[in-house]
Amino acid sequence: MEASKAPSEAGSEPSGIKVIVVGAGFGGLTAAIECHRQGHDVEIYESFPELKSLGDIISFGPNAGRIFRRWSNGKIADRLKPLSIDLEGHGFKIHKWTGELVHTQKAHNPDPDAPVFNGHRGELHTVVFNYARDELDIPIHLGRRVLEYFEDENQAGIVLESGIKVIGDMVIGADGVRSKARELVLGYVDKPKSSGYAVFRAWFSNKDMIRDPRTKHFCENGDTFNGWIGPDVHFLFSTIKNGQDCCWVLTHKSVINRVKLQDDADIEESWSFPGKLEDVYKVIEGWDPICKAIVEKTPSIVDWKLVYRDPLPRWVSEHGRIALLGDSAHPFLPTSAQGATQAMEDGVVLAVCLKRGGKNGVPTSVRAYQDIRYERVCAVQKTGETTRDLWHKADWEKVAKDPASIQMPREDWIFRFDAERNAEEVFSKVVEVN
Ligand SMILES: Cc1cc2nc3c(=O)[nH]c(=O)nc-3n(C[C@H](O)[C@H](O)[C@H](O)COP(=O)(O)OP(=O)(O)OC[C@H]3O[C@@H](n4cnc5c(N)ncnc54)[C@H](O)[C@@H]3O)c2cc1C
Repeated sequence: MEASKAPSEAGSEPSGIKVIVVGAGFGGLTAAIECHRQGHDVEIYESFPELKSLGDIISFGPNAGRIFRRWSNGKIADRLKPLSIDLEGHGFKIHKWTGELVHTQKAHNPDPDAPVFNGHRGELHTVVFNYARDELDIPIHLGRRVLEYFEDENQAGIVLESGIKVIGDMVIGADGVRSKARELVLGYVDKPKSSGYAVFRAWFSNKDMIRDPRTKHFCENGDTFNGWIGPDVHFLFSTIKNGQDCCWVLTHKSVINRVKLQDDADIEESWSFPGKLEDVYKVIEGWDPICKAIVEKTPSIVDWKLVYRDPLPRWVSEHGRIALLGDSAHPFLPTSAQGATQAMEDGVVLAVCLKRGGKNGVPTSVRAYQDIRYERVCAVQKTGETTRDLWHKADWEKVAKDPASIQMPREDWIFRFDAERNAEEVFSKVVEVN
């Protein structure tokens, strides 16, 4: 077993470990970039045939910013910054659904080593994807759907749709919420449960917002972030890239005023299922009219059903050579704002464990990855529910006395965490205990 190195010294001394990553989302890309940093030989297999700028708003907390900052001495973080919301002058303005401003939550104290990035998922994803492929030369095989996973005591591999088998020392299943790798690891199909909530989401240009005197102030003087909170519903609206782009998310119960908006069965876990503006108007009926003024400018919306999964019993296969990572292991509710960040932390920790365990210790390292990550991830997952409930069940009399009680929780144990340093520190102990 190799000795621990401080994070800044992490280098690319070859480990001889061949890692196959399935999925080129933020989880898979980060795992691959971190494996490359730690000296492993890594390649990615991804089913989409070409890179497209998909999705809308995505959040990376400072605990992800710390990871980005380490890539090429801050070069990647510098590229993400102009694509992300800058709230230094604005903060987060929180309103009661009827319109009154109850609290302004200050922007994060900027920590240059742990910046926050909130921006368009496709734009941020493109930066990371291009960095992995074009600058680190990590092979990313597009249009390669993985149909099967296999392993024995000595190796693990995948079978592609074409029938081709690829073999390595281990496989990372970073294949998202509808993971195939999860079937192998669990031995059954883990069906999602309905959370009872759904989210309408939209991203659009500020063109019509600027023309309307009721809405132009959101876009004229840099970026803004406003939230309206009501019983069982919250509406978050932000402007990005100096007010140029607008985006909103409306989280609501699937059933509003006893009317089911969409049959749950019709909506898969999809990022592109179209929604109807009439349904949005139903949800915000009686709300601050500015919410409708914003929604009216929206050319199209996505209706995203929020599904829920109890924590999986394990993320690692029987022989310890296939590991789930990111959404395949632990999907998050959006109110945690930590789903992509936790997927990134997974990749960092797994790459460190593989380095520390060496080529002969792969199964031990992969199990250590699960042990290091499991409790933290479950605890962060819960914040998705607690923040939602804090808002949806707000006691407005209490908020009037203590306006800060309604602000978005920012907990140090989540945000100030350094996943790489922690993995280096605890690895030996975790391995000893097992
Ligand atoms: C198209 C898309 C749009 C999204 N939009 C948003 C958004 O707007 N806001 C937000 O907060 N989150 C969004 N997400 C989810 C968010 O990116 C993840 O929750 C988070 O980043 C964790 O990422 P992940 O890498 O674990 O999973 P994902 O980002 O879901 O990545 C999984 C990857 O695995 C690939 N894959 C799946 N099955 C196979 C297979 N059998 N063989 C090969 N490859 C496979 C998928 O094509 C995908 O690229 C989106 C995800 C996707 C896929």
